[in-house]
Amino acid sequence: MSLNAQVADALDQIAALMELTGENRFKVIAHERAARVIRDLSEDVGSMSPEELQSVEGVGEKIARKIVQFREEGRIDELEELRAKVPAGLIEVLQVPGLGPKTVARLWKEAGITSMDELKRALDSGELESLPRMGAKTLQNIREAIAFTETSGERLPIGIALPEAEAIVAHLRSVAGVRKIAYAGSLRRGRDTIGDVDIVCVADPPDPVREAFTTMAGVRKVLASGETKCSVRLAMEGGQVVDGRGAGREVQVDLRIVPASSWGAALLYFTGSRAHNIRLRERALKKRMTLNEYGLYPLDDDPTPPQRRGVRPIASRTEEAIYTKLGLPTYPPEMREDRGELDLREIPPLVEVGDIRAELHAHTIASDGRMTLAELVDAAIERGFHTIAVTDHSKASAQANGLSVERLREHVREIREENARRGRTIEVLAGSEVDILADGRLDYEDEVLAELDIVVASPHSGLSQDPKKATKRLLRVIEHPLVHILGHPTGRLLPNRRGLEPDMHEIVHAAREHGVALEINSHWKRLDLRDTHVRMAVEAGCLIAIDCDVHRPEHFDNLRYGVMTARRGWLTRDHCVNTWTRQKLLQWLRQKRQGASG
Ligand SMILES: [Zn+2]
Ligand SMILES: [Zn+2]
Repeated sequence: MSLNAQVADALDQIAALMELTGENRFKVIAHERAARVIRDLSEDVGSMSPEELQSVEGVGEKIARKIVQFREEGRIDELEELRAKVPAGLIEVLQVPGLGPKTVARLWKEAGITSMDELKRALDSGELESLPRMGAKTLQNIREAIAFTETSGERLPIGIALPEAEAIVAHLRSVAGVRKIAYAGSLRRGRDTIGDVDIVCVADPPDPVREAFTTMAGVRKVLASGETKCSVRLAMEGGQVVDGRGAGREVQVDLRIVPASSWGAALLYFTGSRAHNIRLRERALKKRMTLNEYGLYPLDDDPTPPQRRGVRPIASRTEEAIYTKLGLPTYPPEMREDRGELDLREIPPLVEVGDIRAELHAHTIASDGRMTLAELVDAAIERGFHTIAVTDHSKASAQANGLSVERLREHVREIREENARRGRTIEVLAGSEVDILADGRLDYEDEVLAELDIVVASPHSGLSQDPKKATKRLLRVIEHPLVHILGHPTGRLLPNRRGLEPDMHEIVHAAREHGVALEINSHWKRLDLRDTHVRMAVEAGCLIAIDCDVHRPEHFDNLRYGVMTARRGWLTRDHCVNTWTRQKLLQWLRQKRQGASG
């Protein structure tokens, strides 16, 4: 694990332990925020001076001192002190979703629970039933939450969760009384993996939608069916399983039924992120207003929530109205992560699916694709693209039927013929997805690569290399004059293969210098570059390619996941080569080479 990740974990632990010991809420939030910022930071905290650390947003003097102590001594005094106060097993109890720190603190202080095992035993023996304010329902919820954590495990890739959520929304939209409905949460923000699915709706009367939701196909268990919130656990087998991945998995889906007048406030609240919402509430308070899931209200001293007192909201019907009253632009959901968006006066022109006019990474039956050359080109025309690059695998990818030099040359001839046959309809580029060998050499000689229109270089093996070797390996590729695009740069696979962990700071700066585009591979198992890497690349001024790595016709549909990832990294149209005109794109491909030879 990198030092940044270790520091972030330590700060997160401090925050969690503070919550349990009942520390000031603001201190908890400050530590959570610093942890998040450091986890996303492109610089290595190991090489930063205390002053540089303090210049990082969210890192004050005190937290900077803790970071310095951690990197020098491998420990933080405050963390050790907190650990001494709190039994170690309680941290695990705190991880159970739905078990807030207040409840965990009560279980600890009033019932002496100090670990998950003790909690389970106490639940079984019935001894918790005698605790005041701990009703049978609360206990049942705790039992189910524990059971769910034990069976669910990992988060769902967005490529499985999003189609599922869309199917649910489409199903419920047709139910009598439903006036508005949308999915929210991390799904709407386009994160690469999803914990649970949140759906918000306006329904009058609410009973039919509640009934339809709790009885829809795939519901394994109804966890709640209340006036404003219904919760179910849904089996993922059947309809929406993608590539066999969702099978046997369960996901929790929450439906919130909100008043029409609170639609915008509810959508904002349930979309999150939590960190973004905290920022918004802070900003509201500074302006003598208070923001909750019902609306933005004038601030007063009455402790009863304003919506219960019939106070008229300042804004509540749309997200836009609320942002406007807070003096902010309406952030696209992908930007709502508290990664500096609140400091922007204007939203940059983020890339959209409709802007993409070229696919620059695609396979045919010549290697491991399922389409013939002609079928691939037809599919690209159908998508409205002006360019399709044919990039079958190189010889080292033997398992993917990679092409020998002879086969490649024959393939190039066929591609050129196909291109001539299509006339002006579409540009068909002859290329290769050439393997990056473990030491950074490429799998074809330069004279072969020079015969191609486009070279995508990708790592497929040696993906557990140490970070220093990985950095050297990728830098060598970026410096290679004949490479246009670095394909799926880290080789990670969601949810479990971490892939290469190069120094991204060095990678993005070299890519910018050499005019190489870094790829966002849109397959939902990859999403590589990931969002935080895209953000670094954008800040460095790199070019980015968003490609579908097409092997089958339906892979073109993965484009939206790549675009969401791009937007999470604030990528604008002008830096995305797939949005360029045909002329500009071809010019870049040619000129990069001429720059190399000249
Ligand atoms: Zn590949
Ligand atoms: Zn590929």
